[in-house]
Amino acid sequence: MSQGEFDIIKRYFQRTSKPSQGVTLGIGDDCAILDLPEGHQLAVTTDSLVSGIHFFEDVDAYRLGYKSLAVNLSDLAAMGATAKWVSLAITLPDINETWLAEFCRGFFTLADKYNVTLVGGDTTKGPLSITVSAKGIVKKGKALTRSNANVGDILCCSGPLGDGGVGLASKVAELQLANSHPFIDALEITEPRLTLASLLVDQASSCIDISDGLTQDLSHILSQSQCRAEIELESLPLSTAMQAEIKHGNITQSQAWQFALTGGDDYELLFTITKQKLALLKPELDKLGLTCFQIGEIKAPVDNTQSLLFTLKQQPIALTLSGWDHFK
Ligand code: ADP
Ligand code: MG
Repeated sequence: MSQGEFDIIKRYFQRTSKPSQGVTLGIGDDCAILDLPEGHQLAVTTDSLVSGIHFFEDVDAYRLGYKSLAVNLSDLAAMGATAKWVSLAITLPDINETWLAEFCRGFFTLADKYNVTLVGGDTTKGPLSITVSAKGIVKKGKALTRSNANVGDILCCSGPLGDGGVGLASKVAELQLANSHPFIDALEITEPRLTLASLLVDQASSCIDISDGLTQDLSHILSQSQCRAEIELESLPLSTAMQAEIKHGNITQSQAWQFALTGGDDYELLFTITKQKLALLKPELDKLGLTCFQIGEIKAPVDNTQSLLFTLKQQPIALTLSGWDHFK
């Protein structure tokens, strides 16, 4: 962007008031210079949000600012990393000061909540799109990968599933609901599970965040860990809002399970852990008000058998499912 670009950066993105840990040099030079604490590794992730693909053009600017950071922090949580720094590449069709102020209010509300510092970025003109790159730290060798799930581990998720998918379906008028607000909130204001991640880092064997739907994201753990999983449908956590819609007859029980298994945008953590470690962790989770739901178990691979099996009342049940894929 030519004129105005530097004013915009100064006015909205460069917050001089906040001295931040590990930032030797922040916004204003060609690169940021960051200090990594002794014995730690850098975890880096990037996620783009493109208008008309990841969000509706008329989405509330505050919520867009919040979510564009949240989806990135969710990836750091999934690695067991502590979020530290972030950069923001934003492409704007024009300079709308009200919109920018609200976008930044959403972005920095979440950044401040987790002590994350904006250290750089890029500001250009074009169709609205936002690319955030988040950086976190994790103790050397302790990152939670997708490749370490073990046979016998419990499969857990951090919160109710399916609300984001229902929110999207209600927005495109595929579903008529008694109250769509909780679902649209779930879609637009996601909460990165960084606090839970800090407890899982020494305990869980593998972890991923659910962005494309549980079955699709779980399939990455299963293929990279070379194992199978069994999921009990009745154990899938459904929100009170979802249960209310089932009661009203607006969503069937089986639709709710489909949303829980394949609806994207949940941003809960999906992780594997031994029974013993989970039992030891439970009091700590309760103390912090963090939820954790056991939804299944990791099994040994069997030739010519599907890697994911669903059960209902302890009986195998056939389901055909798919998650979100941008190119399908
Ligand atoms: P360069 O041309 O060297 O890449 P720019 O002129 O694009 O640098 O940006 C000037 C400074 O402002 C850089 O430190 C850059 O990281 C920062 N910056 C630009 N856009 C943003 C943004 N949207 N958010 C945060 N920092 C930004
Ligand atoms: Mg430069």
